Amino acid sequence: MKVIEEEQPVCVMEGPWSPLSVIREIVDEGAQEDPFYVMDLGEVVARYHQWKELMPRVEPFYAVKCNDDKLLLSTLAALGTGFDCASKAEIQLVTSLGVRPERIIFANPAKPASHMRWATAAGVNAITFDSETELVKTKHYMPQAQLIIRIRCDASSAQCPLGIKFGCDPVTEAPRLLKLAAVLGLSVVGVSFHVGSGAAETAVYARAVRLARELFDAGGAAGHRMRVLDVGGGFPGNSGTCIREVSTVINNALETHFPSRDVRVIAEPGRYFAAAAYTLATMIHATRELPAKEEEDGANHMMYFINDGVYGSFNCVLYDHQQVVAEPLEASSERAGPCSLWGPTCDGLDCVLPACSLPPQRTGSWLVFRDMGAYTLPVASAFNGFPTPKVRAVVDKRLWSTLKELWPLTEAHFSFERVTAPQTPPPSPEPRTPPPSSLNPLDHAVF
Ligand code: PLP
Repeated sequence: MKVIEEEQPVCVMEGPWSPLSVIREIVDEGAQEDPFYVMDLGEVVARYHQWKELMPRVEPFYAVKCNDDKLLLSTLAALGTGFDCASKAEIQLVTSLGVRPERIIFANPAKPASHMRWATAAGVNAITFDSETELVKTKHYMPQAQLIIRIRCDASSAQCPLGIKFGCDPVTEAPRLLKLAAVLGLSVVGVSFHVGSGAAETAVYARAVRLARELFDAGGAAGHRMRVLDVGGGFPGNSGTCIREVSTVINNALETHFPSRDVRVIAEPGRYFAAAAYTLATMIHATRELPAKEEEDGANHMMYFINDGVYGSFNCVLYDHQQVVAEPLEASSERAGPCSLWGPTCDGLDCVLPACSLPPQRTGSWLVFRDMGAYTLPVASAFNGFPTPKVRAVVDKRLWSTLKELWPLTEAHFSFERVTAPQTPPPSPEPRTPPPSSLNPLDHAVF
């Protein structure tokens, strides 16, 4: 392996590999003590292609809040997605990567005035709203905005329900807000919804699209030129999950209620793109053995202390209601026993898994957690002085060359390359060619 530069880790691989084999290689070098992520850039690209295949009519605007890792954002920018930003800082981050403001939707229905002013100056025009006061603020700070009304339509169950906070009632509130916007001289261009993050129901998208259709008609009657449908987020992201079922529901609902291609359909997936691409590796730095608990079959209970916890990546256990699964990096033939996993801080709340079952582990053993890319890193803190994990991105050599061609900024942001053996001499630099049109960034006006 050859280290080229050391700013943001990107390992360019030749030959077969998996996130676990990369983790093993890093751990076996012996110098690693802190937790770290292996990010599989190919997983992000594969998911983009799957999305395009299953929902060709729906343009993804990645929800930056889910994971704002620059490597992920740059990769998605290279592929041509748009971005859903919730704040000034997120807009700044995305535009700093060279993404044009037309590819951004400011999808926070309750925006601080200063962020609205800033968005206007940055050229971001597409925004969501769900209340009268937001309309009045918009008149003041973003009078030229293209507004998208956010309605409430909740999945019967979701990992993180959002309707309790955002989305006006489509029947009792939305028609009135559409009329008020017209009176204020504001331009409403569409309807959005978010069924809940990690939605456990797919039929909800059909209900929501039907409600949106009714509001397109109400908006038209109020004098608005309705032309954007935003189906929000809520799509599954973990390995082994698939968007096939939800894509069928959405495609059918679009054909029924929005057959005209004049309506632009977008979505704001977060989890779908981020979750499975990130595998977290943590090290056990302390253990404690407790006498057997009654319910634990006579075996002593082991407490394992790992170097990332609920103040770090595992904040997702508290805030995102994730059920994480620990896998020992090294296979063992020993019998699994009752145990619990604890984070590194001095807080008793810092418990990652209160009850699980693992073969005996020792200090210095590594545990791996898959599907850790969604709602983990952006929330993590270094409380008690324990650093948040660094990300090592891994990519196949061929895919890497394509990505670099697609997005010139890629090179600036992915500046640490390791090339696995067999070593080949670097190709002589060639002049950049424009990206193929099918993957061209969508630089035209969004709405
Ligand atoms: N859009 C908005 C407005 C959101 O609030 C969220 C998540 O909270 C998302 C999109 C992303 O949702 P998901 O990660 O479920 O796709």
